[in-house]
Formats: sequence, structure tokens, C-alpha cells
Amino acid sequence: MVHKVIILGSGPAGLTAALYAARANLNPLVLGGLEWGGQLMLTTEVENYPGFIDGINGPDLMENFKKQAERFGAKIINSNVTSVDFSNKPLKVFVGKEVYETQTVIIATGASAKWLGLENEQKFIGKGISSCATCDGFFFKDKEIALVGGGDSAMEEALFLTKFANKVTVVHRRDKLRASKIMQDRAFANDKIEFIWDSEIVDVLGNNNVEGVKIKNIKTNESSVCKVNGLFVAIGHIPNTNFLKEQIDLDEKGYVVCNGTATNVEGVFVAGDVHDFRYRQAVTAAGHGCEAAIDVEKYIEVNGL
Ligand code: NAP
Repeated sequence: MVHKVIILGSGPAGLTAALYAARANLNPLVLGGLEWGGQLMLTTEVENYPGFIDGINGPDLMENFKKQAERFGAKIINSNVTSVDFSNKPLKVFVGKEVYETQTVIIATGASAKWLGLENEQKFIGKGISSCATCDGFFFKDKEIALVGGGDSAMEEALFLTKFANKVTVVHRRDKLRASKIMQDRAFANDKIEFIWDSEIVDVLGNNNVEGVKIKNIKTNESSVCKVNGLFVAIGHIPNTNFLKEQIDLDEKGYVVCNGTATNVEGVFVAGDVHDFRYRQAVTAAGHGCEAAIDVEKYIEVNGL
């Protein structure tokens, strides 16, 4: 059987693409990953997804996305795609030894936030640890926050967090920031931002919620405790594109290169954080998913598939 469209990924981009493709009678198959739902499955309250006046839990929101796509006939399988073969038509998608053939593919496998790898880090995600200031900054009104990272994302997040927090302590592993000069200047000029240089966070302290972080200076080996209510980790993201190597154009960081939703391979489209390192929001990913499904529909129509 050759599918009309296979969607890789089941976050907001993938499931919105599935909803639109299903309503266009394309009978989409979603290979949603063993851990379906994407990054929102790791969050608690989502207050910036339009349409939910009082906010909604991340996993509940994704359950709604899934049920809505299924209501129109999208088939969702919780499997991880292991490789693809885009060299010929029909396109091939592999889950281990199993092969799926399809006229078109929408890649919506997202990106994963890089974490520090501390023992109790995962336990505190949603309880004081976050990788998204836009999503979670609001919960830290008049609180103190630590933030790790020295790139543009870290400075952008630190600046954003000063709208809520009393103090943001940036902990960076070197004595120079990687961020662009303009972002550095803005951060240095902000009274609420302090820097701790040449240092790493080695432990997160607290029982149910974050109460502090243990910081080690990597030059002197001295340790100190910084009392904070939150820790934002802004050390970059990794696009989930390992299985695509050599099959499609990726940039130097592994993000899918695209023009609109089109990739360099005819019939292969892209949506969400797997190509978008700038906005990284559920609502923008959902918008991309909608665009990709509409583009697939047109492609199928124009090519008489
Ligand atoms: P990035 O530029 O790769 O910076 C990551 C930062 O995290 C670096 O300072 C790095 O330290 C630090 N880091 C990495 N791993 C770490 C670890 N295990 N422990 C502690 N620190 C660690 O990532 P990004 O800031 O997310 O930016 C990604 C791209 O998007 C960049 O090209 C950036 O310019 C762009 N961007 C632009 C804007 C904007 O223009 N407004 C906003 C956001 C992002 P080192 O410096 O020591 O390597």
C-alpha cells in the first residue's frame, strides 16, 4: 500500500498537519514516536496557547490535538522512525525492518532541549526547572531565578525573565558570552541580571520544588549555594534529524533546510521546531503543520497522485 501522506512526529506541528490532511481526505498516517506528543508533554501549565482562557496542562492539550486528528480519521502509531529512503518514488520510511511507502512526507519530529544531565534535573522539570522562558516566566513573579547558558537564547531568556523575576543570575561555564554583541550589551545593562563566570551548576536543591542550586567554579573548584526558586536551562536545542542524514539538506546544526514548507526533496515537506530554531512555540509549530498539510494537498492535486 502506498500512502498519500505520512507525517513524522506527533507534537503540535505533526498533529495539526494530521488534522488538516485528514480533513482533506488524505488518510494520513502519523508515525508519532515512542514518546508521542512532543515537548509539551514535559510541561505542566500552558497559558499561551490561544483559546484556553484559564490555561491547560501540556499533556491534556496534546491529548486534545490527538483526539481531534483521530476524529477525522488520522491513524497514529507510536513508533520511532529509524531511517528513510527519499532517493526514489514512492518515498520510503522505515521503522526498524518495517517499511512504509508514501507519495509525500511531512517531517515534524521537533527538537529536544539540551539539558545539563544532572541527577535530579528531570524530576524538577515543571516544578521550577524549565527550558522555555516564554512559556514559564510568568510563574516566577517577584522570585529569584538562575539561568544557565551564554548564547543568544540564554540572553534573550534572561532579559525576558526580568519582566517577572526580581533577580536573574546567569551561570556561564566560561568568562565570555557566546551571544551576539547587541544581546550581551542589553544583558549587561539590565540591573536585574547578574553573572557568575567560569562556573557550572552541579546540583539542584529542594524537596518538591526548586529551592536553590549548587554552583562550582571550574577554575578554583570552590562551591557555593545560590538560593533560587527556578532554574532555566538555555544551552541550545538539538533537532531530531539523525535519521534523515544524507537524505535531505540539513544545516550545520542539523535543522532541516527549507523554503516555506518545501525541502530540497520533492514531495517532502517540513513543519515545526525541526526547522524553526527561532520561534519554537506550540502555536507557531501548529501553524507550520497546517501550512505543510495544505502544501501536500496542492502537491498531490497538481501531480495527479
Ligand atoms: P548556542 O549559540 O549554541 O549557545 C549555547 C550556550 O550554552 C553556549 O554559551 C554554551 O557555552 C552553553 N552550553 C552548551 N552546553 C552546555 C552545558 N552542557 N553546560 C553549560 N553550558 C552549556 O545556542 P542558542 O543560544 O540556543 O542559539 C542557537 C542559534 O540560534 C544561534 O545561532 C543563535 O545566534 C540563534 N539565536 C538567535 C537569537 C536572536 O538573534 N535574537 C535568539 C536565540 C537564538 P559555550 O559558550 O562555552 O560553548
